[in-house]
Amino acid sequence: MSVGLVYLDHAATSPLRPGVATAMDEARAGVLGNPSGSHPAAQRARRLLEEARDEVAAFLGRDPGDVVFCSGGTEAANLAVFGTVGAAEGAGEAGEVLWSAVEHPAVREAVHAVQAAGAGARELPVGEEGALDVGALSEALTERTTLVAVMTANNETGVVQPLGAVVAAVRRRAPQAAVFTDAVQAAPWLDLAEVAAGADLVALSAHKLGGPVGVGALAVSPRVGLVARQVGGGQERERRSGTQDVVGAVGLAAAVRLAAAERAAVGARVARLRDELRRGLLSAVRGLWVTVPDGVEVLPGHLHLCVPGADREEVLVALGREGVCVSGGSSCASGALEPSYVLAAMGVERKVADGSLRFTLGPATTEAHVARALEVVPAVVERLRRTV
Ligand code: PLP
Repeated sequence: MSVGLVYLDHAATSPLRPGVATAMDEARAGVLGNPSGSHPAAQRARRLLEEARDEVAAFLGRDPGDVVFCSGGTEAANLAVFGTVGAAEGAGEAGEVLWSAVEHPAVREAVHAVQAAGAGARELPVGEEGALDVGALSEALTERTTLVAVMTANNETGVVQPLGAVVAAVRRRAPQAAVFTDAVQAAPWLDLAEVAAGADLVALSAHKLGGPVGVGALAVSPRVGLVARQVGGGQERERRSGTQDVVGAVGLAAAVRLAAAERAAVGARVARLRDELRRGLLSAVRGLWVTVPDGVEVLPGHLHLCVPGADREEVLVALGREGVCVSGGSSCASGALEPSYVLAAMGVERKVADGSLRFTLGPATTEAHVARALEVVPAVVERLRRTV
């Protein structure tokens, strides 16, 4: 029996979950006004928006007033970086941003931009396992540090970052600094109310959680100064102007509700399937490079491997022809053959990194998908590999 498309690219985007689609359809039914208005249709929209805010806040263990709805993970990360650096500059502080070498481009490029505009910024190294070097962070923290950006888990490797130790070091050595964590990848899998409890700013994106594309949120602790990036009608308590996407917010709320309810069971099942895929590939393909060493905490859905001697674009295209969807690393760089800066930061040699493959499983992944991937991937890789 055909298993259909074998979709193993959930870290790029995770299909809309039926429960989320239903919640969005229900919200859409009936007249929805602009939530800033005062008539009944506007009040209905406002009520739905605030209920969604309550759910997102509960998911993150925050106050509803801390949650700023926006258009996704990129905007949330941009707002965190530009907003806090802008506030420090407004207060006359010549601050410095510290950030890990494996941050997503939404953070990385925002830091490059504030750096180009004159702010101080220092990139912090990761070890060969892909986790931030907390010792290097501790040494870099000073009274000038305004922002420390360390993601909760990496999008390419799935490596969970030592956020608790980051927060502890910042509070000890630079208590004035804000900690921002991009939790976009971690959100489907980790309890952020616990794991990201000490962070001042937390970014989420609905479409990594089986929610709609184009919706996200940034939680901002009231102790942190934030200058809005997008100005206008003053929505979201002056932190993000623009009429809110109420149906999108309802979708994000439904996605986090489902993720929280199913976290333990889905996480365990997906990790088991991921381990089966890993074992199967390692026994069937000669000389596979396991990017993240055993014993390092990785998100349940992530499996990152490199095929030395293979060209990842060729492999991805050939797998796609067989109905197996995986990616070569970060989805944002698709099409580009640029080396992964994440793998470079981990010290992976270029010729190994050029054969990188990221398999990311999700709630809808089944045994049959894994079995089909184990039929297809070894054959394709062996056919396309030039040298070992
Ligand atoms: N941060 C991380 C870690 C991501 O993986 C992504 C998406 O790939 C983003 C931010 C950007 O999120 P969005 O696609 O919602 O803009």
